[in-house]
Amino acid sequence: MADEKKEPVIGYCVKCKDKREMKDPQKVEMPAKGGGTRPAMKGTCPVCGTGMFKIMPKSAA
Ligand SMILES: [Zn+2]
Repeated sequence: MADEKKEPVIGYCVKCKDKREMKDPQKVEMPAKGGGTRPAMKGTCPVCGTGMFKIMPKSAA
C-alpha cells in the first residue's frame, strides 16, 4: 500500500484522567533544553476538547 496510513495517536487527557485517541493530531516541534527541538504530537481530546500533547521519542521521529 502506497497510501500513507493515519495511525491513531494515543495521548493522555489530564481532564478525563484517561488515555484517549487524539482528535486531529498534528506533528509539532517543541523547544527542548539546550536550544534544540523535539518532535511531539498535538491534538485535542475527543470527549472534552482539552488540548493534548504527546512527546515523541527522538528515535521514532
Ligand atoms: Zn478529555
